[in-house]
Amino acid sequence: MCFRPAAVEIDKTCPACGAKNGAAETKCKECGADLPAGPAMPGAPGAPGAPAAPGAPGAPKAPGAPGAPAAPKAPGQ
Ligand SMILES: [Zn+2]
Repeated sequence: MCFRPAAVEIDKTCPACGAKNGAAETKCKECGADLPAGPAMPGAPGAPGAPAAPGAPGAPKAPGAPGAPAAPKAPGQ
């Protein structure tokens, strides 16, 4: 059984002051800054303190792996 616990707590770290806030919080309890929606992802891109540019295009999605060739055929056949 590899189910994750349903009540997993994912703290949101305030991008402005670094305070830990509950996953359900939308504003920092310490400084009132807006918290990013959704769970904070460690290693997410974005410099701390950088305001989100309005209307910024999302990061381009990485294309899928190029068509992987099938197993190489033996040469000379
Ligand atoms: Zn804060």
